[in-house]
Amino acid sequence: AGTPLFLGIDFGTSGARYALIDRQGAIHSEGKRAYAPVGDAAGWASSWRAALFQLLGDIPPAHRPSISSISIDGTSATTLIVDSETGELLAGPFLYNESFPDALPAVESIAPANHTVCSASSTLCKLVSWWNTAGSDGTGSGSAAVLMHQSDWLLWLLHGQYGVSDYNNALKVGYDPEADAYPSWLMAQPYSRMLPSVMAPGAPIAAVRDDVRSQYGLSKECVVCTGTTDSIAAFLAARTAGPGRAVTSLGSTLAVKLVSEARVDDARFGVYSHRLDDAWLVGGASNTGGAVLRQLFTDDQLVALSRDIDPAAASPLDYYPLPRKGERFPVSDPDMAPRLQPRPESDAEYLHGILESIARIEAKGYSLLRELGATAVEEVFTAGGGAQNEKWTTIRERVLGVPVRKAEQTEAAYGAALLALKGADRRVGAIAS
Ligand code: ADP
Repeated sequence: AGTPLFLGIDFGTSGARYALIDRQGAIHSEGKRAYAPVGDAAGWASSWRAALFQLLGDIPPAHRPSISSISIDGTSATTLIVDSETGELLAGPFLYNESFPDALPAVESIAPANHTVCSASSTLCKLVSWWNTAGSDGTGSGSAAVLMHQSDWLLWLLHGQYGVSDYNNALKVGYDPEADAYPSWLMAQPYSRMLPSVMAPGAPIAAVRDDVRSQYGLSKECVVCTGTTDSIAAFLAARTAGPGRAVTSLGSTLAVKLVSEARVDDARFGVYSHRLDDAWLVGGASNTGGAVLRQLFTDDQLVALSRDIDPAAASPLDYYPLPRKGERFPVSDPDMAPRLQPRPESDAEYLHGILESIARIEAKGYSLLRELGATAVEEVFTAGGGAQNEKWTTIRERVLGVPVRKAEQTEAAYGAALLALKGADRRVGAIAS
């Protein structure tokens, strides 16, 4: 085998991708596969399994023996219930955005107020909904049943050990990443025995199963490592670290993620923190963003009109661009109406006003996180379609008052590959010590 390689696989909302990198972060191979689910919920699981093994098959055979480690990210709060004696899927997958309001009263009665599990789409609501209908019937299926997040399940297909997860995925089932334990209110529940044990993302779990290893020509040394959620993997891809570093994603919506020394959670604004090694990754998401631009201009028009913008000049136009009524962060107002008037005659001036207004919302977002107790932002990397617009970057730099640049890598699969790299290094450390 040649130079050691690290494999990351991303299971996002629309498809799966892989990235194979070396220690320096250079990409040696990448690819993607769409999902083609058939039938009921179980069809999703089959399509993910198919995509996983198709991607392994897509990796050029010459690279495969060089793969030192593998990690996988999945959509947050996507949940499966599996029989740990047979490996059979007992229920689910319950998808990230599926809602179980039937479980909400029970969850709200045990969890602290405003806890992240108190949302009908949380992993815990999915678990409790299943438990109340099928799990606690005493027929025995409950006793061997284990809860898996999407990435736990996909990793399990590769390593075959039950009951392992990471603290990013486990947040929405109620894991306390600060105490590094499940809280007592959760452990007191009868279904707590179904909860996985939790490790840091990018921790080595076990070697690849023999059958998978021999079928795909992987090495005996290849180790499978814990994963994370798709949005954290996308953050990791930017390869920025340290308190004050942030990534703004300018896609259909505007999402900010800031590395902070302090943990910040505020349900009013939908702000919550994930653990990131010894720091916190604080996130917030506004409904403003590229979706509004798409309602007004084509992407080609955006490029052409942006050429006529002088980013050093402040636009006098003050908008609050929203695709529809309602905002959460940095202003919590479900009735807030979009404000895109007055519209000047010049489309370039109009676009300038909109881009600058979105930049002000971004700045307000980072100030709000600061007010809530997070570390002040010092540098912003940008991901998403809006990152291509250099005029906008310059406007944002002026409005935010900190350096802004485009992230070199933004694919979650790349972030997962970095977790695989981390896991390979930990294993070496463990053997050496
Ligand atoms: P998502 O994955 O959230 O749908 P993308 O990251 O693909 O979004 O980004 C698409 C968005 O980027 C679109 O909503 C579009 O308005 C915006 N966009 C595309 N080109 C430009 C540009 N030149 N300037 C500003 N925004 C742009």
